[in-house]
Amino acid sequence: MPARTKIRSQITHLECSLTGTPCGYVIPQRLSPDSGKPLLVRYDLEKAAETLTKSDIVAREPNMWRYREVMPVVDPANIVTLGEGFTPLQHARRLGKHLGMSSLLIKDEGVNPTGSFKARGLSAAVSRALELGQLKLTMPSAGNAAGAMSAYAAAAGMEAHVYMPRDAPMANQLECVAYGADLNLVDGFITDAGRLSGEAAEKHGYFDVSTLKEPYRVEGKKTMGYEIVEQLGFEVPDVVIYPTGGGTGIVGIWKALDEMEKLGWIGSERPRMICVQAEECAPLVNAYNKGEEFATPIENPTTLAAGMRVPAAVGDFLVIRAVRESGGTALTVTDEQMVASVVDMARFEGIFPAPEGGATLSALQLLLDSGEVSRSDRVVLLNTGSALKYLDVLGPALGL
Ligand SMILES: *Cc1c(COP(=O)(O)O)cnc(C)c1O
Repeated sequence: MPARTKIRSQITHLECSLTGTPCGYVIPQRLSPDSGKPLLVRYDLEKAAETLTKSDIVAREPNMWRYREVMPVVDPANIVTLGEGFTPLQHARRLGKHLGMSSLLIKDEGVNPTGSFKARGLSAAVSRALELGQLKLTMPSAGNAAGAMSAYAAAAGMEAHVYMPRDAPMANQLECVAYGADLNLVDGFITDAGRLSGEAAEKHGYFDVSTLKEPYRVEGKKTMGYEIVEQLGFEVPDVVIYPTGGGTGIVGIWKALDEMEKLGWIGSERPRMICVQAEECAPLVNAYNKGEEFATPIENPTTLAAGMRVPAAVGDFLVIRAVRESGGTALTVTDEQMVASVVDMARFEGIFPAPEGGATLSALQLLLDSGEVSRSDRVVLLNTGSALKYLDVLGPALGL
C-alpha cells in the first residue's frame, strides 16, 4: 500500500492549556471544564511523523489541509474547504531595500477566501462542528471572523448567526448578509455582542465558535506557522511580527513550532514573537509591560483595525507566555502609523494590506529604530487581511 492511504488525523485528545488536564475530543467541547481556559488539541506526533515528512509534504494539495495528520478532522468527508491557506510568503525586496534589510518577508493572508486569515480558523472550526453534528453556529464579531464563519457555514449548508456591533466595517456586514447568515446588529461594544450571542446559544442550542472558546480555530491558524517554516525550506525566521487581537494566531504559530520540533522538521530554535496592538486597545501589551500573566480588559477600545479591537482575550496568558519564552516583545502603534504603512506596503510591494497588516510594518520600523530588531534579521510580517475589507474606514483616512 502506498503511504498516502495512511494519511489521517493523529488527534488523540484535548488538553487544558492552563492545567494540562486531558479531555475527550469525540463530543463538542468549548472551554476547559476544570479552569474555564482554552482547550488545545494534542496529536500522536510520533505517528504523524511517519507520514508527515519533509519529502512527502511538498507534493500535497496547496491549502492548509496538506497538514492533515496534525489537523483535528477525523473523516476527510467533513472537511469544509474553500482553498484557504498556503498563501504566498513574499520576499519584500523593495520595501526591504528601503529599510536597509535584505531578508524581509510578507506572509500575505489577504489572498485567503473572504479576504483574511480568519478563513483558516473558521474552515477548521466549521469542519469540526459538522463532524460533531453542531449545525447551528453563532458568534460575536466586529470583523472578518463573521464573514468567514458565514462563508464556511454556507458551503457546508449550516446555519450561521452573527452578533455584530453596529459600527463594524460595511464589508463585514455585507458579506454576512450575502452568505445568508442571520446578522444581528448590536448597539454597543463587542462585549455586548458576546453576551447576546451567548444568550442565543443558550436559548436556541447554537454552538458558539468564538475564538479560543472552542478548540479548533487555533488549529486552522497554526498552519501559518507550518507554512512559514515549509516555505523557508524548513528553516525558522529570526522574527515574526503579528497584529494581535485575541492572539489566536500567535498561540497557533507557537504551538506549530513545538509540533514541528517533535516531527523532526526543526530543532529547538524559535523566532522572536512580536505582539503588536493598537495604541487605544492594548490589553496584552499592557500586561506584558507590567510583567503580568493575565491581561486587564480595556474599556471603550477604539482603533480602525477591527481585527485588533479586542478588549479582553481568553487566551491572554498563552500569548504573553509565547512572547516571553521566544525572547520577543510587545508594543503598540497608532492608527495613523498603520494607515501610513498600508500605503507603504502598497507602493513598495503591490500588496494592499489591512490596517492590521500595516501595523506590523509600523512596528518593524519602531523596532529597527530602537535596535531590538537588526537589519540583518530575517523578519516575517503577517499581513492578516486585505485592505478591500476596510474601504469605508481607509477612504476617509486616505483623503477620499
Ligand atoms: C482577527 C484579526 C486579527 C487578530 O487576530 P488574532 O489571531 O485573533 O489576534 C488581525 N488581523 C485581522 C485582519 C483580523 O481579522
